[in-house]
Amino acid sequence: MTEPQTAPAIKREWETYRRLLGYARPYTGRIVSGIIFGVIFGGSTTGVLMALRKTLTGVFEPDKFSLGAIIAIAALLPVFGLARGLGDYFSTYLLEWVGNRVVLDLRMALFRHLQDLSISFYGTSRTGDLISRTTNDTQLITSSVSSVLSDLAKQPFTLIGMIGVLLYLDWKLAFISLVLFPICIIPVATFGRKVRRSSREGQEQMADVVGILEENVTGARIVKAFGMEPHEIRRFYERCRLVFSRAMRVTRARASVEPVIVLISLVGFALILLYARWRHMSFAEFFTFGAALVAMYEPVKKLSKIHLSIQQSSAAADRIFDLLDQPVQVRERTGARPLTGQVARITFDGVTFSYGDKPVLRGIGFEARRGACVALVGGSGAGKSTLVSLLPRFYDVTEGRILINGTDIRDFTIESLRKQIGLVTQETILFNDTAANNIAYGAPDADRSAIENAARRANAHDFIVAMPEGYDTAIGERGNRLSGGQRQRLAIARALLRDAPILILDEATSALDTESERLVQDALNTLMTGRTVFAIAHRLSTIQNSDLILVLENGLIVERGTHRELLTQGGAYKRLYDLQFRSDEPRVG
Ligand code: ADP
Repeated sequence: MTEPQTAPAIKREWETYRRLLGYARPYTGRIVSGIIFGVIFGGSTTGVLMALRKTLTGVFEPDKFSLGAIIAIAALLPVFGLARGLGDYFSTYLLEWVGNRVVLDLRMALFRHLQDLSISFYGTSRTGDLISRTTNDTQLITSSVSSVLSDLAKQPFTLIGMIGVLLYLDWKLAFISLVLFPICIIPVATFGRKVRRSSREGQEQMADVVGILEENVTGARIVKAFGMEPHEIRRFYERCRLVFSRAMRVTRARASVEPVIVLISLVGFALILLYARWRHMSFAEFFTFGAALVAMYEPVKKLSKIHLSIQQSSAAADRIFDLLDQPVQVRERTGARPLTGQVARITFDGVTFSYGDKPVLRGIGFEARRGACVALVGGSGAGKSTLVSLLPRFYDVTEGRILINGTDIRDFTIESLRKQIGLVTQETILFNDTAANNIAYGAPDADRSAIENAARRANAHDFIVAMPEGYDTAIGERGNRLSGGQRQRLAIARALLRDAPILILDEATSALDTESERLVQDALNTLMTGRTVFAIAHRLSTIQNSDLILVLENGLIVERGTHRELLTQGGAYKRLYDLQFRSDEPRVG
């Protein structure tokens, strides 16, 4: 079962850890202070032992020292004790501070990077996996970085001090005792490998568990509708069981280490007792020697566990760095300038795009003037959503250019470009916050009257004030407490408040009742007025007034023109129109 640790594996592990420690560099001052307190800790522990030996000699062999001398030496004990305590406290505090701070920085770096990653990254990642990396993995690192740092600062000095005391008291016995310690380390190393393997597996298994949980929370309706609860419970149980048995493997390995060490130590202690009798050691000497040995136990234990800690955290760190190293595909060009002034003209110039090998859009070319409405029509998978997601640079074109006022959008800063664009999509993502804050998302400076005004224009005001706390009602994650039409009107209010000159509209496919549809359509009309609109239309009835209709098929524009022109042409658009007209409103007679 044990996996021999190869030299390259150790090297890689160390490199990961070094990179991790790189995050501690800004806090060098604290680390150095922590180490100084560590030296004070180790030094005073040694001092305590030496003072103890003298005091014991004075107490149990009174003829060797005067009473005054004994009192003076005894008084040293609390002084050393105080120094040791302060050293302990401050070195632990300072270094654990650094450890926790590193994790804070790492978490933020991760989250910032997630914000920078393009939409395509999210298309290929599992939510549960991402969540587990930002929470579990960073947590694992916290304990490891802080405990490793604080142990490295304190324990070596104590160990050196104790070895010094042992050698000073009886170097032969010291050598014999010191041989015993490496023997104790052998079981630690063996079990370490098990822990390392299991811990790596554990992280992956935990990500699986979170993944299932996430799927079940977001897909609760489907699970219930299909009566799959028992199946999901079984699936979840199987994964959790794996986590459980893995945890028990780690526990077995961990729990075995200490008993083995204690057993070996007791054997050693018995031998030392015999040796002491044979050498006629004084009580003070023997006691101090024993105390030094006992005091050595903790540093040896902690230092030998450092490698375990590093192993454990380097697995987690590996996964975090993996994510941090994901390239950011949509990047800002150096020298990009802000997009300011009016957006007079948007041009798609020979745009080709592919997610992988196969192009999804080919040779797309058209122009939209200020205030125009461009409608995209076509079957599912034709490339409509892809086309509109190129404009805010969710993806970058593979070939060709998109121009605003004649300038490639890649020459504008991403922030200023996106500021010009409002987005109302099918999935009206609402955050777990109040209605007012949801509307003001993306416009944090908006005051309440502006928010209400937007809501009124979006036909959302009435249903918002009818909720228990009006604008301050929390509307729940993903807006579960709202109807489809209400969600859409909130999203429209959000876009109205943002008031961007370009609007991307991915009209909802979900069927709304007539009343709701009228309210939504009304709100949309208000929103579209005076903006350059790119609308993905599912119901052709809504786009008859568009200035330009593009009919997409397999990533190609197969027809273009106004509603009237296209109907007269009698091509693909006419066929789509007839099809919808017939199914939407069955003709009588
Ligand atoms: P529409 O909006 O017209 O339904 P899309 O733009 O969503 O079409 O999709 C166009 C094509 O691109 C489809 O074949 C779809 O499978 C593919 N596609 C869409 N999104 C992705 C993605 N993130 N990764 C890979 N392929 C994708």
